[in-house]
Amino acid sequence: MKKEPVKVREVPAVTRTGNFQEVVLGYSEEEAYVEASRCLQCKNPVCISGCPVGIDIKKFIYQITRKDYNLAYFTIREKNNFPSICGRVCPAEYQCRKTCILTKKDAPFASEKAINIHFLERFAGDYGKNNNLDVKEEKGQKFSKFKVAVVGSGPAGLCCAGELARQGIQVDIFESLHKTGGVLRYGIPPFRLPWDVLDFEINYLKKLGVNFITNFLAGKAKTIKELFTQGYSNVFLGLGAGVPSFLGINGENLCNIYSVNEFLTRVNLMSAYKFPEFHTPVNIGRNVLIVGGGNTAMDSARVALRLQKLNGLPLNTTIIYRRTEIEMPARRLELEHAREEGVKFEFLVQPKEFIGDGRGFVRKLICLKSKLKEPDSSGRRRPVIIEGSEFQLDCDLCVIAVGLKANQILINATPELKTDKYSDVIVDAETMESSIKGVFAGGDIVGGEGTVIEAMGMAKKAAQSIIGELSKK
Ligand SMILES: Cc1cc2nc3c(=O)[nH]c(=O)nc-3n(C[C@H](O)[C@H](O)[C@H](O)COP(=O)(O)OP(=O)(O)OC[C@H]3O[C@@H](n4cnc5c(N)ncnc54)[C@H](O)[C@@H]3O)c2cc1C
Ligand code: SF4
Repeated sequence: MKKEPVKVREVPAVTRTGNFQEVVLGYSEEEAYVEASRCLQCKNPVCISGCPVGIDIKKFIYQITRKDYNLAYFTIREKNNFPSICGRVCPAEYQCRKTCILTKKDAPFASEKAINIHFLERFAGDYGKNNNLDVKEEKGQKFSKFKVAVVGSGPAGLCCAGELARQGIQVDIFESLHKTGGVLRYGIPPFRLPWDVLDFEINYLKKLGVNFITNFLAGKAKTIKELFTQGYSNVFLGLGAGVPSFLGINGENLCNIYSVNEFLTRVNLMSAYKFPEFHTPVNIGRNVLIVGGGNTAMDSARVALRLQKLNGLPLNTTIIYRRTEIEMPARRLELEHAREEGVKFEFLVQPKEFIGDGRGFVRKLICLKSKLKEPDSSGRRRPVIIEGSEFQLDCDLCVIAVGLKANQILINATPELKTDKYSDVIVDAETMESSIKGVFAGGDIVGGEGTVIEAMGMAKKAAQSIIGELSKK
């Protein structure tokens, strides 16, 4: 008899919108065993080609079926430093699950029947975390005379630091914010990635000897040149993409229109949902509109719904997207969760102009309907406006979540650092070295907005290049 996929346990939608606690509860030992047993242990495990860091998926799943959880954990750790994080946030439906043999050929994303690789990874990762498996790991000593500066403490910076510190290299991470973790802390809400999961990984790096220096804006506090004169042999740039894009339409400067960064930073990093216990408020309204179709839009909408509920307001948050659901780049799981929680959707709609209330606050959004034409350069079908289709939506708060660009401060302070037309740092694809000798880069500052695992993949490559360079010295 064919086994059905094991559904992961989740907090019911009506309960979870009342707080910021984790929604997906993960697999129990028994559930993990049953799901792992569905894996066909293919001769040619095509799932591995879908993982940007090449985890031996077949092997760790087999180890779960043998209840060898320690081994499963270390199999993943050979390639991925943060299994508990990736098991929670990786867009598996576009990656390993999509290439799993159980997904129908040419499907736009993973079939339901594909093995739930991400939930199994999370299970093994949490097992390792709960049993403190990493702490016993030995640290190399060969490179202990070298020190490397890592700028940015997002997944790229953390991953690079971990790889280097494990070889005994001294690593200092410089972070401009007062807390570490990058988007994992200030962007992804705790109901998707609880802070204790992130803190575990950061504390592990501290145990390996990685030194974190917060409130340090590289480019202003110190230049790359100055870091070298302080004795760092190399610099790794994991600056991320944190500069918001806007719509460029009339009325966009009215009060209560937020960029996605400001909105999520206020809530996640500055705990606006605990106002007045914490000092940064978000003036949530009755009619919330979110513009965009990616993870950032989905997170903003789910955060907004929770704020409405915590403030005793009816749940009325709508996502506006200019294409259809199929073209939405957001993770399917987040889309499902948003819908279950009560987020509404207006597809094939584009914002035209914001209207204020005469006192500087937004009140309405004038929109236009669109239809889809042939695909554009992104491969997605191109939306075009339908003439005369104008209509209005009530709007007391709007979040613009239409894309993020490279963080510029250090780049602007370093004219010799070559960048492309998007202001992303140009690197050698093999080594991740930039145009400045000894300076490497990875993550969103290189490829533009990407994923956590892609950022980690690039950082790992850069760390290997740095280690290779140091081994010749
Ligand atoms: C809201 C949101 C939700 C997302 N959801 C997902 C998801 O579910 N799954 C997924 O895989 N990906 C997701 N992503 C994308 C993913 O988070 C990013 O691809 C990833 O974080 C990139 O990592 P990074 O280390 O390159 O950059 P970041 O995480 O952006 O970290 C860069 C760090 O560098 C610091 N910094 C920048 N400039 C300086 C400077 N001059 N000096 C010192 N420090 C500096 C920044 O403060 C920041 O802490 C999401 C992104 C957002 C914004
Ligand atoms: S492709 Fe799917 S079924 Fe085959 S080994 Fe990988 S996860 Fe298991």
